[in-house]
Amino acid sequence: MQRHIVVLGAGYAGANAAARLAKRLHPADTRITLVNADAEFVERVRLHQLATGQDLPPRTLTDVFAGTGVRVRIARVTGIDADSRTVQVVDADGPDEITYDTLVYALGSSASGVTEHAYDIAGKGSALRLRNRLAELTAGDAVLVVGGGLTGIEAVTEIAEARPDLAVSLVARGGLGDWLGEKARQHLRTAFDRLGITVLAHTDVETVEPGRVVTAGGRSIPARVTVWTAGFAVHPLAAATTLEVSGTGQIVVDDTMRSVSHPDVYAVGDAALAHGVHGIPLRMSCASGVPSAHHAADAIAARLTGRPIPPNRIGYNAQCMSLGRRDGILQWVTPDDRPKPSAITGRSAARAKELICRAAAWSMSHPTSMLPARRRRISPASTPTQVPV
Ligand SMILES: Cc1cc2nc3c(=O)[nH]c(=O)nc-3n(C[C@H](O)[C@H](O)[C@H](O)COP(=O)(O)OP(=O)(O)OC[C@H]3O[C@@H](n4cnc5c(N)ncnc54)[C@H](O)[C@@H]3O)c2cc1C
Repeated sequence: MQRHIVVLGAGYAGANAAARLAKRLHPADTRITLVNADAEFVERVRLHQLATGQDLPPRTLTDVFAGTGVRVRIARVTGIDADSRTVQVVDADGPDEITYDTLVYALGSSASGVTEHAYDIAGKGSALRLRNRLAELTAGDAVLVVGGGLTGIEAVTEIAEARPDLAVSLVARGGLGDWLGEKARQHLRTAFDRLGITVLAHTDVETVEPGRVVTAGGRSIPARVTVWTAGFAVHPLAAATTLEVSGTGQIVVDDTMRSVSHPDVYAVGDAALAHGVHGIPLRMSCASGVPSAHHAADAIAARLTGRPIPPNRIGYNAQCMSLGRRDGILQWVTPDDRPKPSAITGRSAARAKELICRAAAWSMSHPTSMLPARRRRISPASTPTQVPV
């Protein structure tokens, strides 16, 4: 009997997990289904570019996975029963149910805390709404980006570069880039000055209203457009199941990305509360989401084929951010994500960032090309209900 592995979500994490499983397990024993709400892969790390008028090449999931052994199902997941191993979905033909033996949960994240008067760039739809709104603005109009993290910095610099006629500001709860090393921080300040971005540091936004935001200190800051990048949250689906989740709603997983409450379920990418090398909690990012997907796939294949599970070596080596199209920062970090003194800045960093994005997109478009195939048979001792540890 074939074992059915269902992967929910075809973002960077889910798509990588499905592709790797297809390279590791023999199709005679395993059926792999990848479920995604949208028919296209969304290159999320470039949504600030989409929002400022650049176009992203379409990548249709059925084309991308054609011939790989992964079956793509375009459907929205509406519920999971982790005890009876079923997933509820809705597609063009209406509601349906999918049963699984092993589930890989990779439904990612979306923006959180965005009020009705703010825009965000966490998804393609919202990035396109911002793109349309920015196109309506005229010279001198104020655009305020809330959030001093990587997404806020990439968004505000992209907007300021694409629209030098606008009055662009960033509100940050801390200091500008205060988690970076000194060299990178200095470069960031120089880049913001060059792009004419006003920084309101150590400022909390209390409310976003039409035409302005109000800070916790009661200050009113005018903004024709407010872009909210100050928070990401996971899909509420997992928290509505009997799966153990964290306070953030992420599925709590062990060192092999396997749910601590349901051994048939794995979680990867933004949707998982996972730890990497040295026990560091992984932050929501492709930088750790993709390795977490590879590690989960390797652990699933190892358990099913009766082989040793490779050690969890997920860690960081750099944080790379664009500052518009011609500038950037590549901050070297320790495996547990603390900045080292050294950083690459300027055009070289912009080129490095572009290469990283292209490599991620290329591996998405050729999901099984990079890895040599070792499609192993499932060990007879492994049944859907008795998974060897
Ligand atoms: C503008 C921006 C820039 C970024 N830049 C970087 C960067 O430079 N480096 C970096 O490491 N990280 C970056 N990130 C973060 C990175 O994009 C995320 O951490 C990454 O996308 C997480 O991957 P994922 O596969 O877990 O989730 P996602 O990419 O969110 O994929 C989830 C998938 O699940 C699907 N889905 C969701 N709900 C359902 C449902 N109910 N039914 C069916 N399908 C569903 C979605 O359509 C999507 O395909 C950036 C994020 C943004 C928004």
